[in-house]
Amino acid sequence: MHGAAVLSERAFETCQDLSNRPLSKVVNSSEASVVMRNMSAWHTPQMDRIGTSKLQILVLVATVASCSGGGPIDDSLAPVVVATTAAPVDESLSIDVLNVSDFDTDDTRYWADFASSKMANRRSNVLVFIYPIGENIGPEDWERFDKPFTSNEVLMTPSEIEELLNRIQTWMENDSCLSRDPRLRQEELVMYRSWLEGGADASSQLDLCRETRVVAMGVRNDQPIADYQHLLVHELYHAFQQDLANEPCRDSAERNPNSNSVWVVEGAADYFTYITVGELTGVSDPVGTMLGHAKQSIEGPGDTDVMGNAMATRSAAALRLMVERGSLSESSILDGTLFHDCARGTDFNSPDSEVDHAKDSWHLLERTGSTVTFTQAAFR
Ligand SMILES: [Zn+2]
Repeated sequence: MHGAAVLSERAFETCQDLSNRPLSKVVNSSEASVVMRNMSAWHTPQMDRIGTSKLQILVLVATVASCSGGGPIDDSLAPVVVATTAAPVDESLSIDVLNVSDFDTDDTRYWADFASSKMANRRSNVLVFIYPIGENIGPEDWERFDKPFTSNEVLMTPSEIEELLNRIQTWMENDSCLSRDPRLRQEELVMYRSWLEGGADASSQLDLCRETRVVAMGVRNDQPIADYQHLLVHELYHAFQQDLANEPCRDSAERNPNSNSVWVVEGAADYFTYITVGELTGVSDPVGTMLGHAKQSIEGPGDTDVMGNAMATRSAAALRLMVERGSLSESSILDGTLFHDCARGTDFNSPDSEVDHAKDSWHLLERTGSTVTFTQAAFR
């Protein structure tokens, strides 16, 4: 869902991320909301091929210790694969994947590792859980899900839901931060249960502790794999954004009504995603593709607010304009260093002529042949 961003009560504590939904899912801008509450990160195999440090892959099939309230294990369950990989810098960190959707777990890990390998360093310990949902059966239901998720047909059996929750709980109990906070663990599990039992179309990154991130994805098994990759990499980038859980940084963003934090956070995630998924899938002109989607976002509604429809992609275009104007380093986006020290709360503070220009001019785009570029007016 691409749309207007709305800061929630605990902005940036967790980034509920709907901004990166595929364009095909866009309904309307008034419905869209980005709630900065949760953020996450990850990592997967293929690291050997891409020069990262060693990794371990642990495949667990149906029997995992149940913690509290666990139901019986159903041997007929589809295997849940837990992938544990070492981080590029700190080998005590991992990206663990619990996947019960039909999307391939090894491929998912590969893409996650590839994304992680782009980071200058990664500090987060990450759990990604992915579950299947069916046809949509209701609108956004904040009250039920504590997020702007819609209700969808539930494809998991009650025992499968219990098993997945048990595994999430086990992961939390082994996390160095969450292990000390049983109340938070319980609150999160209650919320995840509501998502699983309600078929919520989760697309969220939650920063549960400064360096503990959880990504939740409720996916249609028949959705295009490109959409799945985009969602996965986008959410992972949020997990790589180190200062999202930096309280002073978050607080300053919340206090400043003119803060650019939201669109910078979302724009960088989408920018990174277009480039990285483009590299993974052999897209020859990922920037042109990104700008084309940004241009497409104004063809219907016509408004040019960077926080409007398809906000993440519009914001990515704004950052790209800054890159092309020489006022922002592309590498700082692509290696995550832009989010090491709260630059979004300092360097991007308004009034700043370059930042303001990017916000106002990101839509000055034109199609030239097979690609989309900025017009000359964007460079004045
Ligand atoms: Zn996002």
